[in-house]
Amino acid sequence: MIMSRPDLAMIENALRTVRHPDGKDDIVSAGMVSGLQVRDGVVVFALEVDPNRGPALESLRQEAEAAVRHIPGVKNVQAVLTAERPQRPSRPDPHGMSKNPVLDLPIKRIIAVASGKGGVGKSTVAINLAVALAQQGLRVGLLDADIYGPSVPRLSGLTGQRPRQNDFEQLVPLEAYGLKLMSIGFLVENEAPMIWRGPMVQTALYQMLRDVAWGTRENPLDVLVVDMPPGTGDAQLTLAQKTPLAGVVVVSTPQDLALIDARKAVEMFRKVNVPILGLIENMSTFCCPQCGHESHIFGHGGARLEAEKLQIPFLGEIPLHPDIRAFSDAGTPVAAQGHKQAAAYKAAAGHLWSGFSHQPLPRAV
Ligand code: ADP
Repeated sequence: MIMSRPDLAMIENALRTVRHPDGKDDIVSAGMVSGLQVRDGVVVFALEVDPNRGPALESLRQEAEAAVRHIPGVKNVQAVLTAERPQRPSRPDPHGMSKNPVLDLPIKRIIAVASGKGGVGKSTVAINLAVALAQQGLRVGLLDADIYGPSVPRLSGLTGQRPRQNDFEQLVPLEAYGLKLMSIGFLVENEAPMIWRGPMVQTALYQMLRDVAWGTRENPLDVLVVDMPPGTGDAQLTLAQKTPLAGVVVVSTPQDLALIDARKAVEMFRKVNVPILGLIENMSTFCCPQCGHESHIFGHGGARLEAEKLQIPFLGEIPLHPDIRAFSDAGTPVAAQGHKQAAAYKAAAGHLWSGFSHQPLPRAV
């Protein structure tokens, strides 16, 4: 059977059947719809409304969702009401963000984990690398910058937990497996997809960097691993331009297409002068859990060759293993379990860290 894949034009047409509350126009022509996205049959969009009328427009929100739900291939629809308000800082900006674009944080190194596309195992790599670094005795934080689809709450087994505030109005990161953790998923009520426009992405990221008690001047984090959203968007640029980013680790599967996307990500980070710390090949070989036989389902060695071509370090291969998935789903990353599959992550973390040993700290704290 051929699966229908709803496209944006179909969804827009469906939304044009919904009238603007003033009755003159439909909601699309009236410019109310923003942030429309479709991902794996899940449609998300925002309806921009007057903040004073927000609650009264709940029925409009439901009507807009209903208009899209019947489109073949649509599995779920999430519409949110948003009210654009002028930015007003809630408290004085101690870091002088507006004047000094680079945040001065109690963090020695920020390492981003990125991928050219989704589903390559970036978040799984990020948490396992972070755990492996913490096991070397480093103070490690993990920031989930994937504010469109946060996965750190699930991967750390902390879904539903909320960080508390300290006396300095900072959020105290949650802790698990020796890591300090922060995710937008700890701050919102449910795991529904969210709508964020560029400036909102920047604000959310700043806040999760600046307003979180990652460390102190006396006791800074040695490394903050940042799980980036897939692709090359606002979050990538914000991090590259506004933080002392030590560099980025790019995760790819061995398939040609994934590698093309990985190359694009590498090029994008190079353009904004972010050092590429290395490439990791995930889902490299398939290990049969019954007999231990290894097979190369997606080909093998593509990422190593790509790294050579791009002249960046190759940090290692992570096998495709059902336990990696099962342990991740259970919120117990393999690296924290003394599992056989932890070895590949530990080796990659070792390579990554050894790359720093000859380098000065990116920024004195
Ligand atoms: P991304 O962050 O790139 O979207 P995830 O880390 O969420 O990807 O991984 C996508 C899925 O693949 C998850 O279900 C995860 O458990 C699984 N996965 C990731 N790496 C592996 C691996 N090496 N072996 C088996 N399953 C994996």
